[in-house]
Parts: sequence; structure tokens; C-alpha cells
Amino acid sequence: MGSSAGRERARGDGGAHRARAPSAGGGSALPALIPEMSSRSPETHQMLRQTVRDFAEKELMPLAAQLDKEHRFPAEQVKKMGALGLLAMDVPEKYKGAGLDYLAYSIAVEEISRGCASTGVIVSVNNSLYLGPILKFGSEEQKHQWIAPFTSGEKIGCFALSEPGNGSDAGAASTVARLDGDEWVLNGTKAWITNAWDASATVVFATTDKSLKHKGISAFLVPMPTAGLSLGKKEDKLGIRASSTANLIFEDCRIPKANLLGQPGMGFKIAMQTLDGGRIGIASQALGIAQAALDCAVDYAEKRMAFGSPITKLQAVQFKLADMAVALEGARLLTWRAAMLKDNGKPFTKEAAMAKLAASEAATAIAHQAIQILGGMGYVTEMPAERHYRDARITEIYEGTSEIQRLVIAGQLLKAYRG
Ligand SMILES: Cc1cc2nc3c(=O)[nH]c(=O)nc-3n(C[C@H](O)[C@H](O)[C@H](O)COP(=O)(O)OP(=O)(O)OC[C@H]3O[C@@H](n4cnc5c(N)ncnc54)[C@H](O)[C@@H]3O)c2cc1C
Repeated sequence: MGSSAGRERARGDGGAHRARAPSAGGGSALPALIPEMSSRSPETHQMLRQTVRDFAEKELMPLAAQLDKEHRFPAEQVKKMGALGLLAMDVPEKYKGAGLDYLAYSIAVEEISRGCASTGVIVSVNNSLYLGPILKFGSEEQKHQWIAPFTSGEKIGCFALSEPGNGSDAGAASTVARLDGDEWVLNGTKAWITNAWDASATVVFATTDKSLKHKGISAFLVPMPTAGLSLGKKEDKLGIRASSTANLIFEDCRIPKANLLGQPGMGFKIAMQTLDGGRIGIASQALGIAQAALDCAVDYAEKRMAFGSPITKLQAVQFKLADMAVALEGARLLTWRAAMLKDNGKPFTKEAAMAKLAASEAATAIAHQAIQILGGMGYVTEMPAERHYRDARITEIYEGTSEIQRLVIAGQLLKAYRG
């Protein structure tokens, strides 16, 4: 175990670790790529990246370890992000959104997650999973009622698809909704719901006609709190500990008939299309975690002395850094491609799955290598590498596990060959 003097020397700043903004990160590659692939000017995205990076370095990075330790929701920071337009990025201004695009959203979620991965998922769920389906499938009245109040950070939403008995097999939903006069009555339990304890509304999926299997699932808008809806305990998680995760328990929960989102039986389609967009958000979260882990590894390695030189002189360390950079930048390009396809109204299901698979596996591998480069200091909470490692792991599980992404990619690939 290193002496405390050794720790100071390795850290070099005599105080809290702050990863530097990387000059070789995604920012430098933006101008070259964006003109060909995006309808917006590269300056818009560059400026956005800088604004969000500054915010994350000032407001999130210094707090992230404490939020993680205390399982504390970053309420004040969420409000500040609302004021910056980060909670409703591709929502048109008429519904009080920022009126930007999905590429902007991806860039913002990456930068936020580089500062704090928990905050990254809180933002991603509100943008993609809660506001996304309402924007796409909601009536004009629903958009005004359920979007506008959720753009400022005063209120956030959640998305309730998974159940205790089925996650990957979402079509097997056992939560039910039946029409009783002018009201839907919901019964069942939704599991693992991000933002559950902090949300003011949820998009929830329930079966309205069991005989039709997944084609009998419908989507509903439910205010929170509301009679008949209770929350389970907060899950005690490996990572992203500042975001709340809990069951939503519906027991004769009555909501107005008008709270149906889309048509009866459209729920599974709404869920799958929503997850396509959500996967771009989680890919971006993974990129931010990976970038933070790489920053931390480089920063440490440049200062850590072994055998008379900084360890960045060692080929073994250089090879690790090279592999980390290739995995990160490759995943970033896949993520931007998926975002720009969505922005251009092109199919992007396969590309979003590829982005999420590549970015989540890159984040896990990069965070693993960052710990190795830090040696003993990688293993303790004094440095952020261990948190990045814990945070990275979830990106291979939620919004479809890596196995499910591979099934989606292979299915689309084979369809294209056969077609
Ligand atoms: C922290 C956290 C936050 C979450 N947030 C949300 C949320 O906000 N909203 C929400 O609805 N859900 C949420 N989830 C649920 C998450 O999406 C599911 O956990 C995930 O989809 C996997 O489902 P499962 O846990 O039931 O695993 P299972 O589906 O039981 O899978 C178990 C294993 O079997 C594999 N497997 C299953 N089917 C196949 C197959 N056909 N082929 C190959 N392998 C397969 C899986 O890949 C996995 O390795 C969250 C989960 C966590 C842990």
C-alpha cells in the first residue's frame, strides 16, 4: 500500500482529484464530422458541449462522490439543469423545451455523466423515457399537460415497463388496466423504476387485453403521488446510487380515461420505440463514465512515479491507454451516428442498439483498466476510479441487457441480408 506522501505525489494537486477536460476527447472531433451528418451547425453543439462541461465540472464533479455515498438525489443540480434546458432537450420550445436535437442530447448526457453518472441517468430518463413517448404519441392536450411542467427541473418523470417477473421479456406484462366508466383501474407491480422516489408522473405499461399478448398492452400517464399507487423501498445499488430505483405498486389505482397514451394496444410499440431513443441516452451516459475513467487514469499515470519515471513511460500503460481511447472514440462515433439518424428521421433501431452495446462494454472495460493503472489507489474511494467502475456496470443491464442488444442487432442484420 502506498504512503500518504506517495498518494500526494501521484495526485499532484495536494487536494481533491479533478480530472482535466481532455483535449483529445469528443469535443475536438466535432467540427470535422458534424457538417456532413447533422442539420445543425457544429458551433451549436460545440458551445453546448462547453456549457455542459463547465456546469458538470463546477456543479457535479465535486459532489458526485458524496451523492453516491449518501444515496442523495441532486435536487438543486436538477433544477439548475432545468434552467439550462437540459431536461427537455429535443422538446420544441412551444412545450417549454430547449428545441435542440438528439445529437445535442447525446453530447449533454455524456458531459453530465462525466461529472456524475447518477445525474446522467436522471436526466436521460426524463428526456428519453418520460418526455420522449409523450412527445411522439401524446395528443396536443396531453403534451401541454404532461410535458411543459417537466422541463424546468421542478418536476421529473419516470418510465415503468419492467416487472418483478419480466424485464427482458417486456411483452409478458402482468400489470393490468381495466376501464370502469370514465376511469382506468390499474393493478400490478412495476420493478426497478429509475427516479421513482423523486418523480411527479410516470408513463406506465399495462395489459388491457390479455388474449392479444404483447399487442394487448397499453400505455398510460399517471400522476405521482396518486391514490392506489405506492412506492417500494429504495434499492441499495452497486452504482448510480444518487438516482432512486424502486417498485411502483398499483392497487386499484384509478386514473381518468383521458390518460391513455396513444391507442389501446399500442403500448408495446410505444415502449420499444421509446427504448430505441433511450439507448442513445444510455450509450451517452456510458461514454461520459468511460471518459471520466480515462481522464482519471491519464491524470494519475502522468504523475505516478515508478522505477524513476512517470508510469506513462511504460509501454504496458501506454498500450492500455491506447486501447481505452480506441474503444471510447469508436463507441462515441456509433452513438453520434444513431443520434443523427434519429434527427434525420431515418431508421435507427439497429444503430442505437450498436451504440449502447459498444459504449456500455467500452465503459466497463475502460473503468476496469483505469483501476489497474491506478493500482491500489484504484481500489479505494479516495479516487473516483472505483465509482466509475461501479457506475459503468449498469449500462450493460438497463434499457435492454447486452444480450438483448445483440439479439436486436442480429435480427436487423439478418433481415437486411434476407430482404
Ligand atoms: C438500476 C436499474 C434501473 C432500472 N430502471 C428501469 C426503469 O426506469 N424502467 C424500467 O422499466 N426498467 C428499469 N430497469 C429494469 C431493467 O431494464 C431490467 O433489469 C433489464 O431489462 C433486465 O431485465 P431483468 O432484470 O428482468 O433480467 P432478465 O430479463 O431476467 O434477464 C436475466 C439474464 O437473462 C438474459 N436473457 C433474458 N432473455 C434473453 C434472451 N432472449 N436471449 C439472451 N439472453 C437473455 C439477460 O440478458 C440477463 O443476462 C432498471 C434496472 C436497474 C437494475
